[in-house]
Amino acid sequence: MQNKTTFVDNFMENLPKKSFDKLSDQPPKSIKWQKLTNQRTQILEFLQSAKNQPSAEDIYQNLRPYIARLSLSTIYRNLKSLEAEGVIISLKTPDRKIHWQIAGPDVAHFYCRGCRKIFELPLAEIFDIKNRLKIKNYQVSKINFIIEGLCPDCCQIYPDGIPEGFSK
Ligand SMILES: [Zn+2]
Repeated sequence: MQNKTTFVDNFMENLPKKSFDKLSDQPPKSIKWQKLTNQRTQILEFLQSAKNQPSAEDIYQNLRPYIARLSLSTIYRNLKSLEAEGVIISLKTPDRKIHWQIAGPDVAHFYCRGCRKIFELPLAEIFDIKNRLKIKNYQVSKINFIIEGLCPDCCQIYPDGIPEGFSK
């Protein structure tokens, strides 16, 4: 694909410096590594273009037609290593699913119990948790919390809230 290099270049350029150093510190090129790198790139590309936070299964179903011999365990392995490098983050929603997204500025996530969509809320709009904890001598490396409720669309459908035991 012609625009792949452009995407990777842009992606690397916009990564935080720390992650960039880690990513460039890779083992010597081998056929196996090339293949893995290609899958990493495809996963990152998919996450970058995704409008929501896909699960590993979602990623697998979407990339399967384009990557030969792709397995769900390969997806998990790549997601885990990208998470360890700080390139992507995982979100565990109350439905016990794990969702993935490109790491960015700290945000809080709102999980709608009706449609099960995840909405990003800029953390700065809520409160300055990092500075408050720093004053108390905590060192914050990652902020990842989920607020649960109903989104505006689902409030129209369930004006009295979702009944207990509701499952979609
Ligand atoms: Zn909703």
